[in-house]
Amino acid sequence: MPIADRSTVLVVNAGSSSVKFTLFRIEDEAVLATGMVERIGLSATRLVYTGHKDEKRTRAAAVNNAREAVLLIIRQLTDANQGIIPNRKALAGIGHRVVHGGNQIHQSVIIDDSIKNIIQDCIALAPLHNPPNLAGIEACQSIFPDLAQVAVFDTAFHATLPEYAYLYGLPYHLYAEDKIRRYGFHGTSHAYVSREAAKYLQKPLSGLKLITCHLGNGSSITAVKNGRSIDTSMGFTPLEGTIMGTRCGSIDPAVVMHLMRHHQMTVDQIDRLLNKESGFLGLAKIDSSDARDVIAAMDTGNQQAAAAINLYVYQIRKYIGAYVAAMNGLDAVVFTAGIGENSPRIRELICNGQDGLDHLGIRLDSDKNSAAISRTTSIQSDDSELKLLVIPTDEALEIARQTLALI
Ligand code: ADP
Repeated sequence: MPIADRSTVLVVNAGSSSVKFTLFRIEDEAVLATGMVERIGLSATRLVYTGHKDEKRTRAAAVNNAREAVLLIIRQLTDANQGIIPNRKALAGIGHRVVHGGNQIHQSVIIDDSIKNIIQDCIALAPLHNPPNLAGIEACQSIFPDLAQVAVFDTAFHATLPEYAYLYGLPYHLYAEDKIRRYGFHGTSHAYVSREAAKYLQKPLSGLKLITCHLGNGSSITAVKNGRSIDTSMGFTPLEGTIMGTRCGSIDPAVVMHLMRHHQMTVDQIDRLLNKESGFLGLAKIDSSDARDVIAAMDTGNQQAAAAINLYVYQIRKYIGAYVAAMNGLDAVVFTAGIGENSPRIRELICNGQDGLDHLGIRLDSDKNSAAISRTTSIQSDDSELKLLVIPTDEALEIARQTLALI
């Protein structure tokens, strides 16, 4: 069946090692095609593509960077014989995930040269992410010069943080001149699950106090008061907050000086240690940063794996307590992302482990918590004062919605 003009929106998430895409039909938000180019810059780069009738195809791709990956994806989608939108006019717009918008970006925006300059200016703040994000935008512009393109920033949802939540206790000029402050990340996911929570609870978001726990390979926790992010656990970079797959989370910054003075470590070595060799991977010592492997190791008696999980859970429990204080109340805790959606065990440990959270009015129903969950589900017991929700996140859909709202 031919696809009507301006009836679809494409979402592009261009990273350094993979470029993901999803093509939505606007009318009903159906996914017409989705996939990614993965292992960019490595051997065996490939395009994994699910399109017509859900058939999944994988094919080798000679691709060296994000720009080439985006061009390949668009060729695949618009191919005259096999493409799902051979009619290029079928696109109404393209939404791009952009990690860092710095101080100047407070919401999603239509991309023009000034926005590209801002993304460029923020490369110092997100050196691994903003360059491929920009390359993806420019690749799309080269093929569709007249099509509206929208940038949806990971940091934008947190632009509402009050000064007392985003400032660090450093000399003020480091904030004023070097823009060193808390930015927060995963904003698209926190925004999406907050709105879905309000829909599910049938209450206006403007009257809700939520704590959204995005627990994935990277984890961040956000206090969402009346629909606005008022505090979040990630900071100047995604390194701050809880321990994660390979990141150390919050530590005393003096540890860095100690490593430099006593271990003669260089900046790059410390960067690698804190970002790539810490967290679950560094603590559990099982050669995996995957939460499933760490939990399995804990269950076979591995003490270090248990220590990693206990620390993770304890930190999340502390954020929940802190954000109840920050908002002076709470209506619901939301769990999302790989671990939050799929691990009843971690949710159980957060709610019931150590001393539990019942003082806050949080009580888990273990049967509801153990069931497989594929859409918004409440898992609190009948006598719980607060709601506990599991909400599968969908950052691509959120980007598509924000793109449509602007074009
Ligand atoms: P990313 O931050 O890369 O987007 P995801 O949100 O996809 O990450 O989450 C990936 C994490 O989710 C991995 O650590 C993986 O172990 C974890 N995960 C996925 N399924 C489960 C599960 N059933 N139990 C525990 N952890 C899980």
